[in-house]
Parts: sequence; C-alpha cells; structure tokens
Amino acid sequence: MADAIDSGRDSFGARGGPVDVFYLPEGTHRHPTVSHGDGVYLWDTDGKRYIDACSGPVTTNLGHRNMRVIEAMRAQAEKICFAARQHFENEPNIALSDLATDLAGPGFERAFFVSGGSEATEAAIKLARQYAVARGDAGRWKVLGRDPGYHGASLGAASVTGDPTSEAVFASVMQVMPKVPAPFTYRLPENHDTDSYARHCAAALEATIVAEGAESVLAFIMEPVGGLATGALVAPDHYYSAVREICDRHGVLLIYDEVMSGAGRTGTFLAAEHWPDSRPDIVTLAKGIAAGYTPLGMVLAPSEMVDTVARSGGFLHGHTYVANPLSCAVGLAVLREVVDRDLMSNAAAMGTYLRKRLSEVQETSRILGDVRGLGLLNAIEIVTDRDKKEIPDAALRASTRLTEIGMGNGLLLYSRRTANGKYGEWLMLTPPLIVSEEETDEIVERLAKTLTIYESEII
Ligand code: PLP
Repeated sequence: MADAIDSGRDSFGARGGPVDVFYLPEGTHRHPTVSHGDGVYLWDTDGKRYIDACSGPVTTNLGHRNMRVIEAMRAQAEKICFAARQHFENEPNIALSDLATDLAGPGFERAFFVSGGSEATEAAIKLARQYAVARGDAGRWKVLGRDPGYHGASLGAASVTGDPTSEAVFASVMQVMPKVPAPFTYRLPENHDTDSYARHCAAALEATIVAEGAESVLAFIMEPVGGLATGALVAPDHYYSAVREICDRHGVLLIYDEVMSGAGRTGTFLAAEHWPDSRPDIVTLAKGIAAGYTPLGMVLAPSEMVDTVARSGGFLHGHTYVANPLSCAVGLAVLREVVDRDLMSNAAAMGTYLRKRLSEVQETSRILGDVRGLGLLNAIEIVTDRDKKEIPDAALRASTRLTEIGMGNGLLLYSRRTANGKYGEWLMLTPPLIVSEEETDEIVERLAKTLTIYESEII
C-alpha cells in the first residue's frame, strides 16, 4: 500500500484539485501536469520535456501522436462509436479478430475483446472454467498462479496474483488461489544455479497440482516474460517445456498472461513464440494492443474451446464495452502499424542494444545489480552493493526516489519494490517499440546520471 501512495499511481480524482489530493496530504510530492506528447517524448504544462523509458506502465508501444492511429480513431468515431453486442457485430471487431488470430497463429483462432488486462484475466478464467464444465469436468476450479506475479486489480485477477500485500487486505473477499514460486534467475536459494532453480520451480508446480488434487485444478496462469511483478524475468528454455508437460500430464490448462509481453514487445507478436514447443491454451493481451490510445484487452483461445462453450449455452461473460468499435478500430490501426513498420524487429534489435548499453553502465555503477529481459521488455535490478546483491532497505525508498530523480532529469521510469522487499527492487526499461538507437542512448545517459545522483545520496 505504501508503494501505491508513494508513486501516486492509485490516485482518485478530486473536484477542482490535483488528482493526488485524495491520498497525498498537502505539501507532499505532486506530479507535474502533462501537456502533450510526440513519439517517445512527453511535455508538461511548464514546457519541460521527458523521454519515456517505460511506455508509461508498458503501454504506449507506438509512442505518442501516431497519426495513423489518430486518423483511424477519428474515422471510426465519425462512423459509429458504440453498437450493442446483442444487436450487431462491428467491422473493426471482425478485422481486428482476423489480424490478431493470424498473427497469433495455430491454436488461437478466436479473439474476444474487453477493456483491459484485468478484464482479460477474468474472461480467461471464466472461459477455462466453462470449458471444463461443458466437458463434464466440473470438479476443476482451482487456478494456480506464481509468487510473485500480477494478473490484475479486480478480485478474480487478484486471487491468482502473487502479492502478499494485496492478499492481506483482500483475502476475505476473494478465493485466494494456490501459488508456486517464480523461477528467479538473479538471487538464487543456496545450492541452486539458474537451471536447477528453474527445475525446482517447475517441480513445485507439479507438487502443488498433486497436493491440491489434480482433478480439482483447472489452470495455471503465468507471465511468460515477467512484467512489473518479477522485473522482466525470463526463465531458462527448459522451464517452459516442463510447465507445458506438467499441465498436459494433469489435464491442467495453461494460460499465458501477455498483457505486458504481447503485441510485439519481446520481438514477436506473442512472447510464447520464443518457446514454440510449449504453446499455452489461452492467452491474454492488453496494454500494447491499443498502445494507450483507447482501453482494450483481448483473450485468444482455440476454436474448439470456444465452440464447446458456445454449444453448452454460450459464454457467461460480458461487459458493456465488449468489442467496442472505437477501441477495436484503434487496436487494428496499432497492430497494422506494428506489422507495416516491422516494429517487432525493431523491438528485438533495440532490446539487444539497450541491454548492451545497460551492461556498460553496470560496470561502473555499484547499485545496478542485474540487467535482464527480452526484446523491449527489460528491467534493471537496484541493489546497494553489486557484489553482495543487497536489496535496498525500505527506508532508502530506492525505486520511488529513482523515479523522482529521473523525472527531474527528464526521464520517465516505472519502478517496483516487491512486498517487504523480499524479492528485490527494479526499474522497468521498456521504451516504445518505435525507439531509435539515438533515443536509446539518450535514455541510457539520463538513467546513468539518475543512478549516480541516487548513489551519492545513499552513500
Ligand atoms: N497482467 C499483467 C501482466 C499486467 O502487467 C497488468 C497490468 O499491469 C494486468 C494484467 C492488468 O491489466 P490492467 O491494468 O489493464 O487491468
């Protein structure tokens, strides 16, 4: 909770006042007011320019003021903004389904559109559950998640999210699901290397399924490349095959949460494509698919699953804004930009370049502990001593303070301190997929300066 207050990210609006007044007492930190954006830059109302090293919360994949998207939005708004699902399909919904399922490839013939990532998690869980019921397997209902992990803020999504802070407050109003350890690669338990720990984590998944009673386990949900919860964690290849085999062995559906990792960010449309022999059964996307221009989330599933649910009486799920024409038109324009400008290749190339530049900074920085990620989904781990991998004490407010110093230096950062600092503290380095080499250099230079200032503050 303190994290949320510090970053101001959960602020409520207040009549006639700054958005943070609900949480933040007078005189405490205030965010500047945004004026406009262009490409990877944003300006505040005082005219100060910021370079976006994180795409907001890993969302603005095309940067700002993309005229193709804005034009598609305007054209759709002039035609129709809303038509009820009980009356109509809409053209952007159909076209976006076609493009997204083409990009996702075999096994993902159907797309369902919602308003964001949390709704996508809810829809994926309900789809999996209805599929089990329709197949006469109604005893399956548990959805295993990872600790740490993040799948959204709504209660169903929070129940599969591995976050003890949220759990402590909301456990009484949700069904907390079992968790298995995420295969961290940086700090390892004694007697483990990266490979053996990943094997241990896969074995823990199987052991948990067995302990819970495999016939009661519906699904396992995980981020194939971690987002904010694990700081761009990428497991060794064998972990992904092991997870797939374990799920198959026990009749458990595998759900990949690609809300952050999807839509081209890791260099492929789905991060799942990096591990072709361990395809998930259901995938969720959001954030990058509409790139911040409108709210949009997506669930991809095989036609056999969707048809089975349809034959059983239909999907018991929907929101007012399901398959919203305006959001789908934006999503379509965004994905066409990603494909036509080959931004997935740019994400792969710029990601490699960014990690190389970050490793150079690491050589001289005492507090840059780890550089990790895939494509443009990256993070750096902040420590107080690189050799000892020491997690900063909460009183040092490392991630919050680095974000503040970054803003002072015209650099937008997205940071996370895990609950009680247990797993560490990191900054996401996830610029828009349009980022150039020059802009990447600017990000790294401003970041190096930010780290140096913070280092001098804590020594
Ligand atoms: N899943 C992951 C991996 C996320 O990173 C997020 C948001 O950060 C969500 C789900 C929830 O998405 P939203 O905030 O759009 O509801």
